[in-house]
Amino acid sequence: MQKKLAIIGAGIAGLLTAREVLKSDLVDECVLFDAGDFAPGCSMGSTAVINRSGIQRGLSPLGDLLVDSYFLAVTYFKENPQPGVEFVPHLHLATESKRHSLFKRFSHQGVGELPAPFADLFIDSGPVFEDQTLLIAPEVFLPRLLTELKTDARFRFQKTLVTQITPAGDVTYASGESQNFSRVILCLGGSRVAWRESFFKGFDKRDLRVTQEVTGFALSYSGIDLGESSFCFSLDQKNFIYRSQAREVWLGGTGQKRGELCPDWIELKEQERTFLNFLKPHYKAKFLEASKTVRGGLREKGQGRQPWMAPLSDRVFEIHGLYKNGYTLAFSAALKASEWLKS
Ligand SMILES: Cc1cc2nc3c(=O)[nH]c(=O)nc-3n(C[C@H](O)[C@H](O)[C@H](O)COP(=O)(O)OP(=O)(O)OC[C@H]3O[C@@H](n4cnc5c(N)ncnc54)[C@H](O)[C@@H]3O)c2cc1C
Repeated sequence: MQKKLAIIGAGIAGLLTAREVLKSDLVDECVLFDAGDFAPGCSMGSTAVINRSGIQRGLSPLGDLLVDSYFLAVTYFKENPQPGVEFVPHLHLATESKRHSLFKRFSHQGVGELPAPFADLFIDSGPVFEDQTLLIAPEVFLPRLLTELKTDARFRFQKTLVTQITPAGDVTYASGESQNFSRVILCLGGSRVAWRESFFKGFDKRDLRVTQEVTGFALSYSGIDLGESSFCFSLDQKNFIYRSQAREVWLGGTGQKRGELCPDWIELKEQERTFLNFLKPHYKAKFLEASKTVRGGLREKGQGRQPWMAPLSDRVFEIHGLYKNGYTLAFSAALKASEWLKS
C-alpha cells in the first residue's frame, strides 16, 4: 500500500513537518494543503524570533520543550546557513518588575551594562543580560523552504480549503470531493478554533482540546539605519528588533485581543512610547518620521499555554497551541510528528 501523507496548513509548523518527514522514506507521497496561496496565516505576520529567553532545563515542561526546540533550530540553521536568517546579540533589560525572574533565568550569564551598539542608541537603563537569538525574515525564509520542498518528487503543494477530516484519514475539500490518506497531520494554527465543530467528524470530543485564539501584532518601521549589525533588545515580553539588511525595526509582542483580527492601536502606541523613551533623542526623531506598517496574525494559546503535539486517532496527528513561541516550538513539533509516523 502506498504511504500517502496529508499535511494541512502551510505555516511554519506544516512546512517544517514536511521537511522533517521527507528526510526519511516514511512516505511515498506528501501533500501539503493550504487554503491560501502560501502561508497566509500567523507565520507570515510573525516577528519570528527564535530564542529560549535564557530559560534553562529543569524549570518546567514547557521550558524544557523550548530549550530542546531552540537547540534543534540552532543546529538546523548552523548546518543550513541561508538568507533571511541571522544569529544576533540579544539584550534583556532588567526592569524593576522583571528583575527577579531575569536574574533567575540568566544567572549563568551574569549581568552587565549596555554594550555597543546599544550604548550608542539607548539611554543607560540599569542591569542588562546578554544572550543570542536567531532572527528569521518570514518573507524570505518561508518561500525558500517551500521551494526546497518542491525539489523532492514525493512532495506537492495544493491550494485547497479542507472542510472536514475523520479519524480514518478521510479529507474533504471545499468542492465536496473527499480523499483518503494513510496519515494526516494537522497544522491549522489559529483557524483551528473557528473550525472545531464542523471540521472534526467522528472524533471523541474529549480529545479535541479547547484552546483560545488571541491576536498578535507588530509595528515595523522602514528606512531606519541603526548600523551594520542586526540585534534584538527586550523589555519584559516585548521585543525591539533591528534588521540591518532591510534597515527595518520591528516592535513585536503586542496584542492579546480575543478572536477578531484587528490591531489594538492603544497597545501598539503604548509599546512604541515605551521603547522610544529608551532611545537617545537623535534616534527617537528618526522613528517619529519613519513610515510604519502593522503586521500580525492569530495565535492559539493552547490550554494553560501548553502546546500539544499528539495523535487524535491512529491516522491523525495534531500540532497546535504553539502560541508565542511558534517558530521555536515548530522544530520539536515536526520531530514529534515524524516519530509518530514511524509508529
Ligand atoms: C506579531 C507576532 C509576533 C510573533 N513573534 C514570534 C516570535 O518572535 N517567535 C516565535 O517563536 N513565535 C512568534 N509568534 C508566533 C508564531 O508566529 C506562531 O505561533 C506560528 O507562526 C504558528 O504557526 P502555525 O504553522 O502553527 O500556524 P499558521 O502560520 O497560522 O499556519 C496555519 C495555516 O493553516 C492554514 N489553514 C488553516 N485551516 C485550514 C483549512 N481548513 N484548510 C486549508 N488550510 C488551512 C492557514 O491558511 C495557515 O496558512 C508571533 C506571532 C505574531 C502574530
